[in-house]
Amino acid sequence: MTPEQRQSIIDAGRDSWYIGASVTESMYSAAAIAGVTLSDSAMGELMVSLHNQMRDEDSCACGSGLDTWDLCDARGIYIAKVCDDCEDSKRKGYRDDIFTDSNYWATESIEADY
Ligand SMILES: [Zn+2]
Repeated sequence: MTPEQRQSIIDAGRDSWYIGASVTESMYSAAAIAGVTLSDSAMGELMVSLHNQMRDEDSCACGSGLDTWDLCDARGIYIAKVCDDCEDSKRKGYRDDIFTDSNYWATESIEADY
């Protein structure tokens, strides 16, 4: 198995994870497409690599290494990934009312521009 084949199998597993499909099935079929026969131990090792890669993606872009969650506004609209370290500073980049007032859109009075 080449590093490229290996990564393509891991990528297939990650894609399935995000859409809620079977990770192992996708990885086995990606391996079959790549012409690789996966032993149980190879599969186990790939699963560990997948897990590690996904964990790295989950750690915050601010460099804290902490897990992130989705910062959403008062209407539940996704704004940014944040962690304990950077939540406050990221919130400061937005108006306070978008986190507290779910009608903030209505108060923008878009019609006034016409
Ligand atoms: Zn952070």
